Amino acid sequence: MQKTVLVTGGTGYIGSHTVVKLIEAGYKNVLFEDFSNSKPKVLERIEQITGVRPAFVQGDVRSLEDLKKVFDNWKIDSVIHFAGKKAVGESEREPLLYFSVNVEGSIVLLNTMKDYGVKEFVFSSSATVYGDPGYDEFDESTPLAPINNYGLSKWMVEEILRATYKADPTWSIALLRYFNPVGAHPSGLIGEDPNGIPNNLMPFIAQVAVGKREKLMVFGNDYPTRDGTGCRDYIHVQDLAEGHIKALEALNSKPQLLTVNLGTGNNTSVLELVKAFEKASGRKINYEIAPRRAGDKAAYWTNPSLALKLLGWKTKFGIDEMCADTWKWQQLNPNGYPD
Ligand code: UDP
Repeated sequence: MQKTVLVTGGTGYIGSHTVVKLIEAGYKNVLFEDFSNSKPKVLERIEQITGVRPAFVQGDVRSLEDLKKVFDNWKIDSVIHFAGKKAVGESEREPLLYFSVNVEGSIVLLNTMKDYGVKEFVFSSSATVYGDPGYDEFDESTPLAPINNYGLSKWMVEEILRATYKADPTWSIALLRYFNPVGAHPSGLIGEDPNGIPNNLMPFIAQVAVGKREKLMVFGNDYPTRDGTGCRDYIHVQDLAEGHIKALEALNSKPQLLTVNLGTGNNTSVLELVKAFEKASGRKINYEIAPRRAGDKAAYWTNPSLALKLLGWKTKFGIDEMCADTWKWQQLNPNGYPD
């Protein structure tokens, strides 16, 4: 029977790519979204790609009343919870906002699920829950010690989910710890559309390539890495979206608490990413070396073996595809989604 998945934050960057995969895999979706960091246009784009316009409710995850509009009108089988604030710097300036949206929002959602007897939950966690353990290859047993409020909010929700499962093991919960999501759907119709000046490297490079920004600031070239610049495990958003489908399948097979890192196991430096983007776009990326950014670790990546073992999932795409698809999206949408 066709399952119905509630996708909170379903028009966001990772949410929208996952919704496309869910539709392609035969799931019915209900999207729940407040449009604080995404545009209604995404719904149209999802329809253009899949031929299906997903059901949609506008609301705030902290509002029981808003959530009831979903649970009273659809029989929800599972929830994938993307809705949340995600900018590390902002989380340091606005801790209460981050704990309210990310933590309180998750509690209200989980309580609502409990009331309606829905117990399958996939949570968007993040490699930021690890902080800096003093080594670079993180696996799922790496100690949890977040070093900013964003990471702290993800860790808190993880703890809440572990407690929920412990108290009632008929819940089935996946904690997916993302590394650095980049790329876009190969159609170029959906992609990452940051508000204002991008905080993250890939969207910044893409905006330099398209002529929206003059040059990239490379935050530090004196790290103990191959070329002195920071190294990260960039993962194509298409691979990441596929990981969510695999996680749902696993949760559906038996109640469990599943914790996996989603990354490639590779790492790419800032300058290597600049080069790869130049190759994919045929454009020169101007950059300047700037001081290190506070709170940045030199390098980290995942050991991807547990995801393969538990989900039968591994990434398919490399840096070249990540750059090519980002470039296609950026070229087709130089100013992001139209209003
Ligand atoms: N970075 C950079 N210039 C920028 C943005 C990021 O040099 O304008 C570097 C950053 O120092 C890090 C890497 O790019 O080494 C990835 O940063 P991003 O913010 O994308 O992800 P995060 O490090 O927060 O996981």
